[in-house]
Parts: sequence; structure tokens; C-alpha cells
Amino acid sequence: MKDFEYFSAGSLQEACALISRYQDEGKILAGGQSLITLLRQKLIGPACLIDIKGLKELDFIDYNPGSGLRIGALTTHRTIEKSALIQEKYNVLSEMEKSVASVQTRNWGTIGGNLCSADPIGDPGPSLIALGAKLKLVSTKGERTVALEEFFLDYFTTVIEPDEILAEIQLPPPAPNTGVEYMKFSAIEAGIKIVSTSVAITVEPGSDVCKEAKIIMSAVAPIPLVARKAAEMLHGKKLTDDLIAEAAKVAASETDPISDLHASAEYRKELVRVIVKRAIKKALEKAQKA
Ligand SMILES: Cc1cc2nc3c(=O)[nH]c(=O)nc-3n(C[C@H](O)[C@H](O)[C@H](O)COP(=O)(O)OP(=O)(O)OC[C@H]3O[C@@H](n4cnc5c(N)ncnc54)[C@H](O)[C@@H]3O)c2cc1C
Repeated sequence: MKDFEYFSAGSLQEACALISRYQDEGKILAGGQSLITLLRQKLIGPACLIDIKGLKELDFIDYNPGSGLRIGALTTHRTIEKSALIQEKYNVLSEMEKSVASVQTRNWGTIGGNLCSADPIGDPGPSLIALGAKLKLVSTKGERTVALEEFFLDYFTTVIEPDEILAEIQLPPPAPNTGVEYMKFSAIEAGIKIVSTSVAITVEPGSDVCKEAKIIMSAVAPIPLVARKAAEMLHGKKLTDDLIAEAAKVAASETDPISDLHASAEYRKELVRVIVKRAIKKALEKAQKA
């Protein structure tokens, strides 16, 4: 590992000042679950690490019925998984977190570190996009809010500037008559993800007519992919089995997966068709009970 300076930030303000001074030469260290591997493999060699893991001000889950949910960037996967509030109001997040890595990694890895890694096989992205997440980014110059849908740019690349820190994830209050489902396929349990999808369906009250649909697919493109054509097919329609199957086919056609040692591109496309179909049906069931 290349030598680096180490700073343990005592506050968010101090962390912002440090990253502003070092810019591209510095790296924020949260749980280190992704970063340390990159350092050890010499894929990156920053001049300094700015450790923010101890900042309590970025470790919180806060809910307000009017404005929704705020999750501090340093909240661990495990805390989100186990939060009674999230289980009650945003259950898909708790369910999704159960599929992230092992308990050990979930105990230390943070939601902010996961999103900032922008790994194309990351699990939280699709469900957070389906829930309408926004991110609060801060720097010495101030703060800005970015829709998560606009955050990812390419493999391991986001819109975050070299002097910015992700402070929190914001979600609107749960939408009425809405169900959200996350489905992931791995060849072996806790193995590397082949594909996943998160689907949000809003129905007209007491019916199976779709008012709003969002379909997000992952591991089939460099960033979480929003299946716009497939979702459009569902708007305003009765969600019959035939329509759902057709929309899933269209969703698969919107993907551009790669072949690698885990799966061929063709296999990924076929899997997407299957899991999108199942996820729409599950989300519909949830929406009708919501
Ligand atoms: C064995 C193993 C299995 C895994 N399996 C899965 C899986 O199944 N699904 C999945 O989604 N993920 C998986 N991961 C990835 C894991 O979820 C992430 O490594 C973890 O969430 C990253 O969080 P961290 O706090 O450790 O981030 P770090 O490793 O500390 O940081 C990651 C990156 O984000 C930057 N960063 C961190 N926090 C901030 C911030 N607040 N603002 C700005 N930049 C920041 C860092 O500079 C770095 O570039 C796995 C990881 C391991 C080690």
C-alpha cells in the first residue's frame, strides 16, 4: 500500500475543510469496506485519508410524517436493516439490506460509502431510486441536493465533486397505495449478484389499475438503469398477467449487459425479464394491501 497521511475528522465541517484542501489527492474513509481493498490492490493511491467514521452527526435515521425520511451517510447497512421504523415505513430497504454482503460487512459498511462507490452491482441504489431518494452533498462552499437517479454517471463514477461529502439520503413519505419490491439473483447464496431489480407500483385505490410505475434494473448497465419504456406501458392500465409479461420483455430489451465470468449478456437479459415480471406482481400485491 502506498503511504498516505491520515486525518480523523472531529466534525463534518473539519472533514469538508480537509477534503477541500486535498481535493483529488484526498479520499474520504467511512467503513473502508470498499476503499481498503482498492488501496491494497494499488488501484488508488491517495496522498491522504480523511476518516469520518466517528462523526455521530452523519449517523442517524430521522422520520417526519410531513417531510419523510433522512438517513445519515454513515448509517450502517445493518442499522438500516434492523431499524423498526424502516421495517414499518420503507420495508423494501430493510429487505434489500438483508441481501447485502455478510453481517460482518453490513455491521461496518455504510450506506453513504456504498452509494459513493457507485459499484454497478451495488444493491441499495435501485430501491432508493424507486423510493425517490435525493442526496444532500456538502462542501465548504455550501450544500446541494441531487436526485439519486442523476447521481451515478458511469462505472464507479458519480456527480460528486472532489471537495464534496455525501451527508444524507432523503426519501419522501411513503406514497399511498404503493408497493415496492426488490429482487436479486445470485448464482449462490451471498454470492456476487448476477442481476437485480426494484419495482414501485402505485394503483388507483381498491383496483389493479396502475397509476404510477417505476422499474429500476441493476448489473445490466454501468449504472442502475431506469426502464422507462416498460414503466410507460403500465401507466393507466389494468395490470393483467399478459401486460406484466409484455412489460418485463420490454424492460429486458432496454438493458445493455456485459458478459463476464459470472454470466453471459444473454443470460442476464433473460433473468431480468423473469425477475422484473415477478417483481411487478409482488409490488402490485403490496400496493393493493398498502
Ligand atoms: C466482502 C464484501 C461483500 C460485499 N457485498 C456487497 C453486496 O452484496 N451488495 C452491495 O451493495 N455491496 C456489497 N459490498 C460493498 C459494501 O456494501 C460497501 O463496501 C460498503 O457499503 C461501503 O461502505 P464503506 O462505509 O465501507 O465505504 P468506504 O469503503 O469507506 O468508501 C467507499 C467509497 O466511498 C467514498 N465515501 C465513503 N463515504 C463517503 C461520503 N460520506 N461522502 C463522500 N464519499 C464517501 C470513499 O472515499 C470511497 O471512495 C461488499 C463489500 C465487501 C467487502
